[in-house]
Amino acid sequence: MLTETAEHGELIERLYSFSDLSDTRLRELIDDRTEADAELLAQRARERCEEIYGNDVFMRGLIEISSYCKNDCLYCGIRRSNKNAERYRLDPEQILDCCETGYALGFRTFVLQGGEDGYYNDELLCSLIGKIKSSYPDCAVTLSLGERTAESYKRLYDAGADRYLLRHETADKEHYEMLHPAGLSLEKRIECLKELKSIGYQTGCGFMVGSPYQTTDHIIKDLRFIKSFEPHMVGIGPFIPHKDTPFKDDPAGTAELTLYLLSIIRLLLPKVLLPATTALGTIDPMGREKGILAGANVVMPNLSPAQVRKKYSLYNGKVCTGEEAAEHVKELKSRIETTGRKLTAAKGDFAF
Ligand code: SAH
Repeated sequence: MLTETAEHGELIERLYSFSDLSDTRLRELIDDRTEADAELLAQRARERCEEIYGNDVFMRGLIEISSYCKNDCLYCGIRRSNKNAERYRLDPEQILDCCETGYALGFRTFVLQGGEDGYYNDELLCSLIGKIKSSYPDCAVTLSLGERTAESYKRLYDAGADRYLLRHETADKEHYEMLHPAGLSLEKRIECLKELKSIGYQTGCGFMVGSPYQTTDHIIKDLRFIKSFEPHMVGIGPFIPHKDTPFKDDPAGTAELTLYLLSIIRLLLPKVLLPATTALGTIDPMGREKGILAGANVVMPNLSPAQVRKKYSLYNGKVCTGEEAAEHVKELKSRIETTGRKLTAAKGDFAF
């Protein structure tokens, strides 16, 4: 047992030169992980993170702008064919109100996330982004609005958007097809990611941990993709089933593996902006803090109007009141402080 851990320890120390590690060794590190491995990984991940970002944990205000979606991703509660989903969309005025509230609470990044909803055409979004940036020139605007054309991404960037989150979901083609309907492809997803990065966005990819059919080999592919793409941000969280989707009876991913992978990702890309996600906070009430202790350095409290939060239901049981809510930022602050870190109001750009 001891030698095994010692060997894993050596692997952990070598993670930065990840490309040299064989799939067999990586499989071992993931499949035969021990608590001691997780502890060592987390410790190294925290050290690496602190070398770059010091004691800061950045906060982003998440505004869920629409629960309408033209896509039909099999895992997602707001998929088009879910007739039980309650649909809403925020108009630009409501979104600006959220920013005003958020700014007063100390937020300096606004994340606009939603289903793929045609209501938000380029014209509307460019005007909205322009207004946010002129009212709050010291803030960053992050978009997470799915796949759009290269031209659209460019227009939104020129209007002032700074960052874009688009999880690749899985780096394995067959697995991608098991999670998505025909018409959506990994190839297109990656093309969008490359486009976003080349335009100049701080770009984020990511995947769900424990999604249906996911194997360790898929996770290794995800890690290799992340390492080679070199995103500025990586969003990972456990898959959590939603009762009105084909995956309603599939088991959720675990916090334990999510945390382990957060640490690995921090070591692969020391500078990455890595959130302790809402999904992690949903399956484990201490998920946020544990995420920070595993190497994450971003939290994204919910800044949507309270009456729509339940309707943006990607998975069951989503936490959105408590410390997840932007208005409880004080409580979040003291909880983050228990990790020895400090929640900061800084805009929190990638350390280029
Ligand atoms: N339409 C946007 C935003 C999608 S929602 C886009 O396509 O990027 C943001 C993320 O939530 C998704 O990328 C997915 O990884 C995650 N998600 C969706 N359903 C989920 C579920 N059931 N459990 C956990 N995460 C989920």
